[in-house]
Amino acid sequence: MKILIINCGSSSLKYQIIDMTNENTLCKGLVERIGIEGSRLIHKVEGQENYVIETPMKDHKDAIKHVFDALLDEKHGVIKSLDEISGIGHRVLHGGPDMTESILVDQRVKDTIKEFVKFGPLHNPGNLMGIEACEEIAPGKPNVAVFDTSFHQTMPDYVYMYPIPYEYYEKYSIRKYGFHGTSHKYISHRAPEVIGKPKEELNIVSCHLGNGSSLAAIACGKCFDTSMGLTPLEGLMMGTRCGNIDPTVDSFLQQNENLSAAELNTLLNKKSGALGVSGVSSDFRDLEEAAAEGNDRARLALDMFVIRVKRFLGAYIAELKGCDAVVFTGGIGENSATMRADICKDLEHIGIKIDPERNNVRGKEALISSDDSKIKVYVIPTDEEVMIARDTMEIITK
Ligand code: AMP
Repeated sequence: MKILIINCGSSSLKYQIIDMTNENTLCKGLVERIGIEGSRLIHKVEGQENYVIETPMKDHKDAIKHVFDALLDEKHGVIKSLDEISGIGHRVLHGGPDMTESILVDQRVKDTIKEFVKFGPLHNPGNLMGIEACEEIAPGKPNVAVFDTSFHQTMPDYVYMYPIPYEYYEKYSIRKYGFHGTSHKYISHRAPEVIGKPKEELNIVSCHLGNGSSLAAIACGKCFDTSMGLTPLEGLMMGTRCGNIDPTVDSFLQQNENLSAAELNTLLNKKSGALGVSGVSSDFRDLEEAAAEGNDRARLALDMFVIRVKRFLGAYIAELKGCDAVVFTGGIGENSATMRADICKDLEHIGIKIDPERNNVRGKEALISSDDSKIKVYVIPTDEEVMIARDTMEIITK
């Protein structure tokens, strides 16, 4: 069985085909600049040169047509007919409180995605366009929506509620939802396999550290708490997002800098975080390099990131009433031994001790804590696409 995975942004689209007999990726690709001059599709098959199509693509439907053309291409394609694709799994950012699991797309699901554009204005519209384009171009093919928010829907009310007047929860559904759910879910499945114990017997803190970063406290396989909130802006400091700050900063800046709500949103989402503090970059490789060369603001940004991860890590170990394993994943978590070492530094008193030699790994599964560390620490590369493909297969074969 082959599953197509689609991750649609507002002007870009990533895709992959996974053969579920062995979970191998047959091809992956990217369409950039949809609806903008200079649209192009890059199609990658391992062991082959990239196949690039440069042609105007006016909307997502156009882009998906070209994706199907690339998949079926005589020379670069990986399938002979669309019949070979059993289903399409779509990554969707926000599913609100009712989408507690991945689900077969119908009108109600599309209405929900539309409703939660209010909290995912940058992602939900593109996600929906991708689904509707597939429905038009490949009628009858089952589409499955896999939400970034679903995994976190097991949080209890006293964790997900915000302490603001209750009526705003009732009126607008304002509460914590959490994101990166597909990645944290993958870790909730994979970590127990790596540890060799059933997930029902383990408490895990999953640290997804990348361009966007979030931690999840996972109790017996279920999410108990997570650091992102109503939107992916809450929680940790990130590449370009501020994370938790006193909300008064918003209104102060809005008044004193004469900003519109949209400008403030852009400032906190795109110009803050590591980029805003350092003035160097949002990329942690650049920051580590600049800090090593003596750039004080790059050093400051890294130190701020580390203390914020420690803050949530400590909180989640307390919330879980004890923890068996901490897992690092995401671009930074998988690749930066320095960040992992700094985050875990001086945590022996709560049972975390890193082995510097074991920690010297990049992008592969590894135990990085020392033998006498009470809490085991792992690096586990995330695989959101496989998770989407597994959910899609499960739903369409039900
Ligand atoms: P992601 O959003 O999970 O793809 O993560 C992307 C981020 O991972 C990049 O912006 C970098 O900041 C970070 N990253 C990737 N490789 C490294 C590395 N070797 N050292 C430090 N940071 C890295």
